[in-house]
This record gives sequence, C-alpha cells and structure tokens, in this order.
Amino acid sequence: MPRTLITGGAGFLGSHLCDHLLTKGHEVICMDNLLTGNENNIAHIRSDKFAFVKHDVTNYIEVDGRLDYILHFASPASPDDYLQFPIQTLKVGSLGTHKALGLAKAKKAAFLLASTSEVYGDPLVHPQKESYWGNVNPVGPRGVYDEAKRFAEALTMAYHRAHGVDTKIVRIFNTYGPRMRLKDGRAIPNFLRQALEGENLTVYGDGNQTRSFCYVADLVEGLYRLLLSGCNEPVNLGNPNEMTIEEMARKILQLTGSRSRIDYLPLPQDDPKVRQPDIANARSYLGWEPRVGLEEGLRETIAYFKKTLELQKTWTRP
Ligand code: UDP
Repeated sequence: MPRTLITGGAGFLGSHLCDHLLTKGHEVICMDNLLTGNENNIAHIRSDKFAFVKHDVTNYIEVDGRLDYILHFASPASPDDYLQFPIQTLKVGSLGTHKALGLAKAKKAAFLLASTSEVYGDPLVHPQKESYWGNVNPVGPRGVYDEAKRFAEALTMAYHRAHGVDTKIVRIFNTYGPRMRLKDGRAIPNFLRQALEGENLTVYGDGNQTRSFCYVADLVEGLYRLLLSGCNEPVNLGNPNEMTIEEMARKILQLTGSRSRIDYLPLPQDDPKVRQPDIANARSYLGWEPRVGLEEGLRETIAYFKKTLELQKTWTRP
C-alpha cells in the first residue's frame, strides 16, 4: 500500500486528492496549517488509513516511517488570500517547497508540485504552452504568488537534476467545484454566493478578460495520472474551454435562476487579460482530457453552495 503525504490536504484541491488517493488504496497523511484550509473538508473521511496533522510546512516536516509520494499543495490560492497573506504565500512557496523536497529526498519519495498558470503572468502568448516563460510583474501584488511558484518550480527541477528526486510539476489552470469556500474571493465562488444570496454579481473591469475553467473531478484525475507518470517536465492541466468573465457571470445567473444584476468594479492590478491552457502534453503523455461540461460542473457546485449556505443559516439561527 503506497504511503502518501499531501500538504495543504485540508484545502479545496488537497481534500479532493485525499479522497481520490484513499479510493486508489493509498494510506494518506494530510498536513495543513488551516490558514486557508478547513477541517470540514476532510471531516467526512472515516478511513483508518487516513491521518490529519496540523503543521505549517514552512517549518521542518517530520513524518515517521516510509513515504512513497509527496504532493505539495499547501498555499493560499485565491488572489484575495495571497493579498491578505503575502508573506505566508512567499514562505510556503519557497521555504515550504524546500522542506517538502528535502523530505522527498530523505524518504526517496516521488514528489508532485502544485504549480499554477500564474507562472505565465499576464500572458503575451495565447493559449499558453509549457514552453512559454511567462510575463510576470515580480513586484506587483500578485508577484508574491507568481514568483513563489516560479521559485518552487526552479527548486523542484534543481532537486530532480542535482539529487535525482523523481519530481513532477503540474501547472494548474482555474479549477472550481464543491469545497471552495463561500468567501473564497475567486470568480466562481463569489458569483455563486452572490447569485444565491440575491446580491449583485461583482464583475471586475469590463468583464472581457478570459479564463478557462476546469471541474475539480477532471483535474484530480489528471493529477493522479501525472503522479504515476514519468513526466518530470511541467505539465498544464486545465479545461481549454475559454470564456469571458462576464459570460461566466451570466451563465451563473441563468443556472441559479437568480434575479441579481451585475456590478462592474475596478479591475485588480496585473489581472491577466486572457488565459487558456494548451493541453497537448497532458493529452499525449497522460492520455488525459477534461470530460465534465461547464453546466454539469456548475450544477454540482451550485448544489454544494446551496447546502453550505443552508447549514450556515442553521448554525447562526438562535
Ligand atoms: N473576478 C471578478 N469578480 C469577482 C472575482 C474575480 O470579475 O468577484 C475576475 C478577476 O478579476 C479575474 C477573473 O475573474 O479577471 C478570475 O479571477 P479569479 O480570482 O477567479 O482567479 P485568477 O484567474 O485571477 O487567479
């Protein structure tokens, strides 16, 4: 039975990975400092092959016994979060990645780094292939995330080349689904909560900027394939279905049946104007491509948001 550590395991993606690897027969150690993760995301797990450890991976990571895989997913991931926690974001991408790689080396474990489409910054090449080096403002407010992840990629490749650690790097494009926080700050959770609560949807800028949204179950399948693959170079995972943010807001209004309207607010600094993954490498090396359509994925996510909002009302009722 493989024994696997997931840092950031109580977060949105990390918790789905815990579920997936348990169904694939792994013993899972979930590590999280709960800065942006939440124990509710793993509260349903009943397996005796699962353990939660509260730990900040920017400090030395101690795990007893064998480890076969380390999935390094710890990091704030919403622009709102990394604006609120800029130093923690830089530390977990740099110091945290160093500790996790050191552990992988000591345990002879395979290592998967959660990197991001943000390494491409505000891209001048479209769609983005892995060979594109990106257009990042290192000193802008998003630089704390983008540069931390770029450093994390460089460190990961250095551990691969210098120490022979079996490393993989995934560049994750916008992903959505159940367990995103109601106040996560990213476009889909914001729009869903606003639509369901009868608030106006907050579109930043004119809404013509584009993103390409992938449903979480598709992403997790791609991550699993990458983990087992021999790909040591970065691989994009995401859904190439590109749309404008205004189109997304309107789709959410339609699917929720909400009568909310759209408010146009200022565009945050360095907000990328376009983003779409080129997934040719994932297709050919992993035999992977996304399968869940936008409406199907959004309906699942809407059901989760409705349930969570209901629960919240029950808790706050006197
Ligand atoms: N956005 C928006 N309204 C919101 C939240 C985000 O219009 O309430 C925009 C944001 O400016 C960006 C896009 O939606 O252009 C995607 O933002 P998100 O925070 O989801 O992720 P990003 O792709 O920027 O990391």
